[in-house]
Amino acid sequence: MFKQGKKIKAEYDYLLYERDPDPSLHKGFDNSDVIYLLMPDRFANGDTTNDNVKGMLEKADRSKPLGRHGGDIKGIAEHLDYLKNLGITAIWINPLLENNMPKQSYHGYAITDYYKVDPRFGANEDYKNLVKTAHQKGLKIIMDMVENHCGTGYFWNDNLPTHDWYNQWPEFTRSNYRGGVQSDPHASEYDYDKMVKGWFDVTMADLNQHNELLAKYLIQNTIWWIEYAGLDGIRQDTYPYPYKDFMAEWMKAILNEYPDFNVVGEVWLNYPSQVAYWLDNTTNRDGYRSYLTNVFDFPLMYAMSRAFNEKDGWSSGTLALYETLSRDFLYSNPMNIVVFADNHDGDRYFSKVNKDIRKFKLGMVFLMTVRGIPQIYYGTEILMTGLEHVSHGELRKDFPGGWPEDQNNAFTEQGRTPLQREAFNFMRHLLNWRKGNKVVQFGDFTQYIPENDVYVYFRHNDKGAVMIMLNNAEKEREVDLSRFEENLKGYSKGRSVLTRKLFENLDKIIVPAKSPVIVELIR
Ligand code: CA
Repeated sequence: MFKQGKKIKAEYDYLLYERDPDPSLHKGFDNSDVIYLLMPDRFANGDTTNDNVKGMLEKADRSKPLGRHGGDIKGIAEHLDYLKNLGITAIWINPLLENNMPKQSYHGYAITDYYKVDPRFGANEDYKNLVKTAHQKGLKIIMDMVENHCGTGYFWNDNLPTHDWYNQWPEFTRSNYRGGVQSDPHASEYDYDKMVKGWFDVTMADLNQHNELLAKYLIQNTIWWIEYAGLDGIRQDTYPYPYKDFMAEWMKAILNEYPDFNVVGEVWLNYPSQVAYWLDNTTNRDGYRSYLTNVFDFPLMYAMSRAFNEKDGWSSGTLALYETLSRDFLYSNPMNIVVFADNHDGDRYFSKVNKDIRKFKLGMVFLMTVRGIPQIYYGTEILMTGLEHVSHGELRKDFPGGWPEDQNNAFTEQGRTPLQREAFNFMRHLLNWRKGNKVVQFGDFTQYIPENDVYVYFRHNDKGAVMIMLNNAEKEREVDLSRFEENLKGYSKGRSVLTRKLFENLDKIIVPAKSPVIVELIR
């Protein structure tokens, strides 16, 4: 009840729902998962009647790369079986909340109502039902959230609850996007202020989480969504941009309510040392503790982007992968890192490897067998391409077959080109093998310095071992296995995961040019 003097200005009844008693809820995601990132406006249009909704400023127009294309929650729901068949176990959906902005509202990062799904995607109930249906199929749902900024079309924008609801500047001031200043012991206040209080964009107002009312609003909103929708995880946008003390409070509030829950933070920084600062630890020199359970591996993504285009050298080719992973000592727990080859903000992987299917396979095998939790971007399995310098729209093209009028439907076998079939079948085989293999999911990771252009590493525990060999040369390589004795001890043969070929002994293995070999070792 809101009063002015004695006069009641507004009344609102809050409904207190029962908590869902399902004990399997809110258990988070882990190394057994493979995450599929999809952009809801660009994945599938299951309901063309919601493409345009009265009161929503931007209309659908598929001819515009940065316009709205009409994808929605129903489109996702209709393709859950497709994803399950592919071997996916968790889906990270770019923001579904209302973005009532006049243009470029498709990407979802200018939220205008934290409590409401955008009606062009569906209703709150549709989202809740999507999670429920996904759970019935053994799929988890990870919600994309943004605590740093909201869209300037937010309903409070023209009449802010308090002047300091936003970080205010005399004139528009952009963030310097240098997330590293938050951990830099030498950072100036000038740079810090621009980083944390500068606006992400003219259409994205910088929220001041040091306002206690706003901080509470954001925390309550997060807890509400976890409980209401039955979420399995959160991906938090622009993690180093808000005040870091607030982000720690936000994390603590979540874990206090749901101790097994996960949040993966977008800490988009280049060096493992910078990313490690944000993954929960008790050893940061400035005493900062984030409580953040997971981070993305941007440094490894950058190494993956070049490794198979380069020849192996002291720090090039697969040595870039080896060197990056050798810095894992910086992380409190390297297993809690989400590994990826691409996402909605950068060049698609098939473009990065110059559309070479051999390099693509090397990259995907690496991604699915390295330590951490793998994430792929929608359309990777059918070799979708796109380069960032052309346009963000290029990275976020419609999944072919997601729209009723599409000529080709790549969701079906018949709708794929021969090369797309090769990639899809490869991915499905790899993902479904990983899905049933605890050793590759949770096993220890031991790597050997790449030699003669072949990078060899093992995933192993007391139950078994898997040997991964990546040949980065344009020629086949015969690899003498005696160097790997410490990991091969106790095993007498092996079977290729990709070809099912049996290796009768573990003396030598021939790895074809620019190809991976995965060997499940047999005692
Ligand atoms: Ca639609």
